[in-house]
Amino acid sequence: WYPWRDRLYCTLDILMHLPRSVFSEKQIDLMLWLLKVNGITDCPSTKEVKDWSRDINRLYGIDTFEYNGALGHVYYVNSISQMLAQEFANPKVRHKLHVLPEDSGPRLSEARQGKRWLHELHSELTTPWHRSGTTDYFTFEPTLATKNRFVIPTRWFTRGDRTFAKCWDMEPVSVDGTQTWRAVVRSPETEVPADELLKSYPELKVHMADFPDLYRNIPTLFPIHHVFHQEDGTCAEWDGVNWSNEKGSYWRQKSGGRPVYSVPIWLYCDDTSGNMSKKWNKHNSWLFTLAGLPRTEVTREYNVHFLCTSNLAEPMEMLDGIQEEISRAQREGIWAWDCSKQDGCGPGPVMIFPVVLALLGDNPMQSEMACHIGLAGRKFCRVCEAENDKGQRMPLGTDIPGGVAPPVDASPSGPADDNDTDNPDPPNAIYDTGSDTSQPGSPVEGTQPRRRHDTERVLRNYITDAKVIGNEGRIEAEKTRTGVKDTFLAHFLEKIKSSYKSHRGVDAQQKALDLFWDKHFKEEEVENMINPVWRLKGLDAHQDTPVEILHVVLLGLVKYFWRDAVRHQLHKKEDKLAELAVRLDCIDVHGLGLSSLRGRTLVQYAGSLVGRDFRAVAQVAPFVLHNLISPESYETWLSLSKLIPLIWQPEIEDIVAHSALLKVEIHQFLLRTARWTGRWFNKPKFHILVHLPSHIERFGPAILFATEAFESFNAIIRAKSVHSNRAAPSRDIAEGFSQWERIRHWLSGGWFRELGVENVMNMTTWKPLPAKGWTRPVFDPDPEGWKCTGMESKKIVNDMDGPIPRYVGLVDRKRLGTSIFLRSG
Ligand SMILES: [Zn+2]
Repeated sequence: WYPWRDRLYCTLDILMHLPRSVFSEKQIDLMLWLLKVNGITDCPSTKEVKDWSRDINRLYGIDTFEYNGALGHVYYVNSISQMLAQEFANPKVRHKLHVLPEDSGPRLSEARQGKRWLHELHSELTTPWHRSGTTDYFTFEPTLATKNRFVIPTRWFTRGDRTFAKCWDMEPVSVDGTQTWRAVVRSPETEVPADELLKSYPELKVHMADFPDLYRNIPTLFPIHHVFHQEDGTCAEWDGVNWSNEKGSYWRQKSGGRPVYSVPIWLYCDDTSGNMSKKWNKHNSWLFTLAGLPRTEVTREYNVHFLCTSNLAEPMEMLDGIQEEISRAQREGIWAWDCSKQDGCGPGPVMIFPVVLALLGDNPMQSEMACHIGLAGRKFCRVCEAENDKGQRMPLGTDIPGGVAPPVDASPSGPADDNDTDNPDPPNAIYDTGSDTSQPGSPVEGTQPRRRHDTERVLRNYITDAKVIGNEGRIEAEKTRTGVKDTFLAHFLEKIKSSYKSHRGVDAQQKALDLFWDKHFKEEEVENMINPVWRLKGLDAHQDTPVEILHVVLLGLVKYFWRDAVRHQLHKKEDKLAELAVRLDCIDVHGLGLSSLRGRTLVQYAGSLVGRDFRAVAQVAPFVLHNLISPESYETWLSLSKLIPLIWQPEIEDIVAHSALLKVEIHQFLLRTARWTGRWFNKPKFHILVHLPSHIERFGPAILFATEAFESFNAIIRAKSVHSNRAAPSRDIAEGFSQWERIRHWLSGGWFRELGVENVMNMTTWKPLPAKGWTRPVFDPDPEGWKCTGMESKKIVNDMDGPIPRYVGLVDRKRLGTSIFLRSG
C-alpha cells in the first residue's frame, strides 16, 4: 500500500480527497463508525486521519502560497511550478504532452499547430533544448550544420516525424577592420533539419581549439556583433545578456546541459456569480490546462488544474500572484522528474518553464484581462478599435417601436448567461425599415487591432494625469475615447483621489496629493500599479484572448435569435407556440447525439436556457421554425446554421480554405442579419464574431479555447466551497485541491520523491511535522529517491468496474468538447 500505511489509510485518503465527493467531518465520523461496527477493529479516529493526510500532503502535495494582494485582500494560490513538475512525472500526462510546435501544413487540429505557438511566440519562450543523435543542442547558440554552414537555431518544431530548427544564418562581417559575425534573419526563416546539425556550441569550441587549421579563416564565434533582419534591412544588437562565451546559452547554464522544455498553458478565469446556491457567493477562480496536450485530452476534467479562488480578491489581484510565480519560473526554470523515455533520454531530471498561450474566459472577463472598458463601451471590442457611432447605440430597450416588455421567466435549470453588459432586448420590430442595416465602416467590420504597448501607454498617462488635481474628468473622457480601463489601476486611482478629498481649494488639494504620492507610491512602483497581465512575457491580452464560442455563439447569437422568435415574433400567438413545442418534441435528434428535446421547456423558458439547450436549438432551429417566423429572420437562421458547423470543426483539413470559407459565411450571416434589422448590431457579439477566423488560425480549432471544460470544473470548486471553513474559503479550497492533485498523481502512477517516509509510514514512531519551520527539500536528481505507489493501490485504479477510476478521471465521466456539430450538409 506504499506510501500509505495500510489499506484503510489508502482508501480513506482517496475517499476524503476525491474532487467530486466532498465529505464533512461528521460524514467521515459516520463512515468510520460504519467500518468499526462492521468489524474493522483498528479504525483510526477522524482526527488521526486528518492529521496524517495533512502531513503527508505537506510532504507530497502541492504547496499553497498565501498572498497579501495589492488591492488589500488575502488570497491563496497553489504552486503552478509544482503542478507542472508533477505533470512531467505523471505517465498518464507526460506521454501525451507535446513540448514542440508542429508544422502540419494546411491541416489544423491542435494548438501546437496554430500560428501563435509555431511562429509568433517569442523564440526565448519556446523549448530551447533538442537532442539529435547523442548531442544536445540549445537555441541561441552558434552551431555547425552540414555543408559547413554556421547557424543559430532559434526555435525547434516538428514536421512529420522529423524535428527542424528555425535558424539565423551566421555571416562573417568586417567591423572597423575586425573580422566578426553577424546573425542574419532571413525571410522566410532558414530551416535546418535537426539531423543535419553536426556540432553543438561546446563541441564546436573544442573542435576549433583542437584543429585550428580547419577554421583558419573564420573569426572567433563570439561575440556576435549584431543581428541583421533581411526583410526590412534593419540591424539590432545581439542580446547577449543571457549568454556566456564559456558555457553557452542561458538554459544550458541553468540546467547544466539537461533537457529544458517550455510548457504553454491555457489560463482561465471565471467569476461565478451567486446564482447557484445561497451558500455560493461570487467567487473568482483561476484554472489552467496544458496547451501541449492533444485536443481530446485538454478538454477532460482530469487535465484541469486549480490555481486559486476567492470571494474577496479581484481576478487581476490574484493574477498578480500567479504572474509572479510564472515569471520567476521563466527566469529560474523548474526542476522536474521526467518519466518519459522520449528524445533518447531515459527518465531523469529536466528543467521546465511555463508560458501563457492565451487567456480564456467569458467576454466581460476577457475585457477585464485586456484592460478594456467592456462590451458596453463606445469602443466595445477588446481586440480592435471598432467604435460605435455616437448616438447610434440604442438606449436599453426603450425605443423599440411597439416594444413589449419581455415576460419574467422562472428558470428551469438556472440561468447560465455570461453576465454580459449588452443587455438591450432583441428587436421585435423586424420589419422596421427605418433602422437600416450596416452602414459602411459600421462596427460590424474589424478595424485596427489594439496593441499592448498602446494600452500600457494610456494607462501610464492615467497615472501621470492622476498626479495633478482637476484631471478626473479628463481621465474619464479618455476611458471612453480609448476604451482602456484597468480595474487594477482603478483601485490606486481611487486611493489617490481620497487623499485630497477632504481638503478645500486646488492648492491645498495638490499639496495633499503630492504628500500622499511621495509617501505611498514611488516612481519605480508605477509598473506595479497597472494590471499584472502586462508583466506576463510574450502575451498581448488584446490579441491573446480568443473569441470564446460558448458565450459568443451559443449564449450570444443563438440565444438572441431564439428569444426573439419565441418572445417577440410568436408573442401571444399561443397556437404557433404550441406548434413549435410539438415540433421540438417530435423532431428526431438521435443522429445528432442528443437526447429527445423538451419542447415546452425550450419554448416556455426561452430566456433562461443554458448552453446545452442552445446547442440543441442551434441544430434544429431551421426545421422547427419553418413558416413560423419572418422570411428575413428565417434566412438568418439558415445562415447561422451553416456557420455553426464550421465554427465547431474539430479537425480542419485545410486552414487556408477553411478560414476563407468561414469569413465568407460570417459575412453572409451578417448581411442577412442586416437585411432582417440593423438593430442587432447594437449587440457587440455580432462584431466579436469577425475576429474568430484569425483566432482559429492562431490557436487552433475553436473548441480548443472554448471554456466548457473549465465551466464544468466550477461545480467542483463550488462543492469544495460548501464544506470549507467559512473563515478562509480561499485557503481551504486551495488546500483541498492540493490534496486532490496528490491523490490524482499517485493513482495515475506518477513518480514522487520519497520524503520522511520513516516518519509518516510508521504508526508507532509517527510524529506530526512541526507546524512551522519545515520546508520541502530541494529537488533531488538521484533516481534512487523517485518512487511510485505500491502494487495494492494500483489494483484500485486497475479495477475499471470500480468507481475510483471514473472519479479520478482516468476513465471519462463524460466527453466534453467533442463536436456534435458535424458537417451533415
Ligand atoms: Zn474588434
